[in-house]
Amino acid sequence: TPGLRPLIAGNWKMHGTLREAASLAEGVRAGAAGLKAEILVCPPFPYIHVVAVAMLGQPVAVGGQDCHLAAKGAHTGDVAAPMLRDCGATYVILGHSERRADHGETDAVVKAKAAAAIAAGLTPVVCVGETLAQREAGQAETVVRAQVGGSLPEGFAAAGGVVAYEPVWAIGTGRTPTEADIAAIHGALRETVGGATRLLYGGSVKPGNAAAILALPHVDGALVGGASLVAEDFLAIARAA
Ligand code: PEP
Repeated sequence: TPGLRPLIAGNWKMHGTLREAASLAEGVRAGAAGLKAEILVCPPFPYIHVVAVAMLGQPVAVGGQDCHLAAKGAHTGDVAAPMLRDCGATYVILGHSERRADHGETDAVVKAKAAAAIAAGLTPVVCVGETLAQREAGQAETVVRAQVGGSLPEGFAAAGGVVAYEPVWAIGTGRTPTEADIAAIHGALRETVGGATRLLYGGSVKPGNAAAILALPHVDGALVGGASLVAEDFLAIARAA
């Protein structure tokens, strides 16, 4: 989209050791200079600070994979947005389908988390996407429009908030929607969010399909899971943007 710098985001999920996180960060750092796209890596919570220190002064942003909707308090095991900011994160992924499924996160919860992220100075990357049953029932566009409508707080666009379209059935499966289907959903999302919000596609993005997906209208980057765990693959996707 004109005027929007592409964003290539890596979601490391719950993978790797501390040593592997440091080495993956080093691999990404080594290839990140001079890219057109902005690069973001989202390690597991315990590794965020180490990765953020490794990226100091480098053109690689660091993000969390979730945050709590409160800024602090009696919430054992949760992590607050200001803590992520304090550890060097500038982004946070919210409402990933795995969070929605594993932790019952609703649109209202995601919206409150995104508001907390913005208040803490983090840029939220809010994920939406239909299930296979919803797609087969012809409801994909209705579902993602409703998710976006319910998950984005006041001030989201002004804060630079990002939306990631991730069909649940394409995540980690090697399957992707057709290019026409991706373009159709992104076109619908563009109408909903306006021209200032970057729209990422996520779901089985690999070096081999990245260029074609990233060339589609209203696709302003990618959210990458599996392929973000191999620095060369992640960088190849970033170079395709
Ligand atoms: C994701 O879960 O954000 C994702 C896109 O995963 P994968 O690339 O492995 O499909």
